[in-house]
Amino acid sequence: MNTPSGVFLEAQGGEEDVECFLRGVREQAPPLAVISSVRSGDMTPVAENGFAIRESGGGGNAVQIAPDCDVCPDCLRELFDPADRRYRYPFINCTNCGPRYTIINGIPYDRSYTTMAGFTMCDQCRAEYEDPAHRRFHAQPNACPVCGPSLRLFDSRDNNVDGEPLETAVSLLKRGKILALKGLGGYHLAVDACNDEAVRELRKRKKRDEKPFAIMSPALADIAEFAVFDETEKRLLSGPERPIVLLRKREGNHIAPLIAPANGYFGVMLPYTPLHHLLLRDAFPALVMTSGNLSDEPISYRDDEALRRLADIADFFLTHNREIHTRTDDSVIRVFQGNPIFLRRSRGYVPRGITLPATQKSVLAVGAELKGTVCLTRGDKAFLSQHIGDLQNSATLASMEETVHHLGQILKIEPQVVAHDLHPDYLSTTYARGIRDLPKVGVQHHHAHMASCMAENGLEGAVQGVIFDGTGYGQDGTIWGGEFLVGGYEDFRRKGHLRAVPLPGGDAAVREPYRMALSHLYSVFGDELFELPLACVQAVPAAERKLFLKMLERRLNSPLTSSCGRLFDAVAAMTGLRGMVSYEGQAAIELEAHAESVETSLRYPFEVVTEEDCYVTDFSHMIRSIVRDMGVGRPGAEIARCFHNTLAAAVAETCGLIRGDTGIGRVVLSGGVFQNKLLSEGIHTLLTENKFHVFTQRLAPPNDGGIALGQAIIAGRSISCV
Ligand code: ZN
Ligand code: ZN
Ligand code: FE
Repeated sequence: MNTPSGVFLEAQGGEEDVECFLRGVREQAPPLAVISSVRSGDMTPVAENGFAIRESGGGGNAVQIAPDCDVCPDCLRELFDPADRRYRYPFINCTNCGPRYTIINGIPYDRSYTTMAGFTMCDQCRAEYEDPAHRRFHAQPNACPVCGPSLRLFDSRDNNVDGEPLETAVSLLKRGKILALKGLGGYHLAVDACNDEAVRELRKRKKRDEKPFAIMSPALADIAEFAVFDETEKRLLSGPERPIVLLRKREGNHIAPLIAPANGYFGVMLPYTPLHHLLLRDAFPALVMTSGNLSDEPISYRDDEALRRLADIADFFLTHNREIHTRTDDSVIRVFQGNPIFLRRSRGYVPRGITLPATQKSVLAVGAELKGTVCLTRGDKAFLSQHIGDLQNSATLASMEETVHHLGQILKIEPQVVAHDLHPDYLSTTYARGIRDLPKVGVQHHHAHMASCMAENGLEGAVQGVIFDGTGYGQDGTIWGGEFLVGGYEDFRRKGHLRAVPLPGGDAAVREPYRMALSHLYSVFGDELFELPLACVQAVPAAERKLFLKMLERRLNSPLTSSCGRLFDAVAAMTGLRGMVSYEGQAAIELEAHAESVETSLRYPFEVVTEEDCYVTDFSHMIRSIVRDMGVGRPGAEIARCFHNTLAAAVAETCGLIRGDTGIGRVVLSGGVFQNKLLSEGIHTLLTENKFHVFTQRLAPPNDGGIALGQAIIAGRSISCV
């Protein structure tokens, strides 16, 4: 019997048989079963024979909902078997595979609490569903062409297109058309990834200039044609979660260059629904599969909404009548030293729980602003939600509210505490403060990053936290982002940071990295800044130069920031890589790609100075050296590489000084900058050589997508467990 606390089993027989059965529960569990614990006890035997599955019962609250899963090998075989009754049926599934989280609207996990409730099984499907020996025994979304959902193909004016929807869709894609495709957790926009014109048109219509598009390929062999992957990456690509994995591009590949311009990597995934398999197999080596949304908005998942929002982008829509209940984007992973790092943890992983080091109060944590996720805890489990998006508009805020409600409902969690960022203007903060009758805990942004990494590594006690990211509200009202913290869940101290410089124009500086270059250059060269022979300086029109100098001198609209992300921006602009970006983190990503193209262990000079009991990393000498190197025509890639090496060395030196003071040799690395593989590896290597014990994030993203987990454990600890 399914109960909200898990599965309840009753077995009768000889002692040995019952023991053997109990072992089998663990050892022969179906592929999708995650057994968190087995508890058993004796019951009084009753006169019963046979096997029965009882109606789901109520009570308890420890249930876990399964994530969505790729098509299993058995179903895949049937899908392409002309003799099978589900031959080419796009909604084939069984107990071992198929949709879960995205179609569940209540618990327990029964068909009546999924978006399959409206489809009545035909006799054949019902017989499978009721046969304990069948692979589809109690497969809740079980369906076939007779009784289940079906496809529909129409144009952007909602007119049906003649012909078999799948075959027609393939031929439209072959002709370079843009297809909106209903997937598992939302709509994708698909085009032929080898068709330059189609990709360019998609960029134009989606108003997305440079941010890379994800691609989907039918098989590993196809991926090997255009990207390079190792064993770990292969395992991730072909696992049941089917994330997007960042893979190094292969030289001379046939993928349209506009898919990931100025980027050394492709985001690649394998098909994960039967519909994907049918669309790609024998038809395309790769299709673009990017979220169906306008830039900055959440992914579309309801049919009417998708048609409204995507009608100006897509030429055609391939959809179906199985509703998506919960919007869930694709997960994105990068491999670093044999371990996966989540850039986005979403479909395939949500709502799998993360085990906390100890039981705590139930908390709702609402995250920060960018890459929003929420986290709910129950006992010693933390449930991090799917990716919600950048909380900068009402559509995303509404999506967050839905997520809080839905997760709370299916996991049966009623939070006792609400945790939020200290930033007073984040929509998440406003939302949290608006929740009545619950205590609120404001958590400093970088403390949350540190706690997130500690929590997933099961750490207690005090650690050093090297927290590098773009932006976070500091305790002193300045913008932090290059932080060396010491402490644990209960409290922390800022033991060091990168030297703060003005952020000229506030948010404008995030979109225009050349402003950060001006700021760093001003801090070294002062008024002589505009005499420097750097392209990013000379590009500033004469009329604006005075304004900039005034801004920097008097700190007008220029809050101070110690951000490491912004230091990357400055170096990218100084080396002529780019002065403007079209998405957050773009300059840093390109600087890394640039640096990876050369090999050198050289580094620039830097200083770590003590100011008010704090270690301040001063990069004036490095900035000076970069200007000199640019002047003598040293290749930008070499400068970028030296910059990475310098930063890693500065981290190792500062951690060494802090260990000297505190004796703490455990270091956690977190913050969005640690998505940078080259820097992460550099720091990891140096710290390990210096006998530090280094911890990184593998279960939650190091970027702000993992903040909610840290907030949750800090808030859970700050209010004692009763
Ligand atoms: Zn299956
Ligand atoms: Zn059927
Ligand atoms: Fe952050």
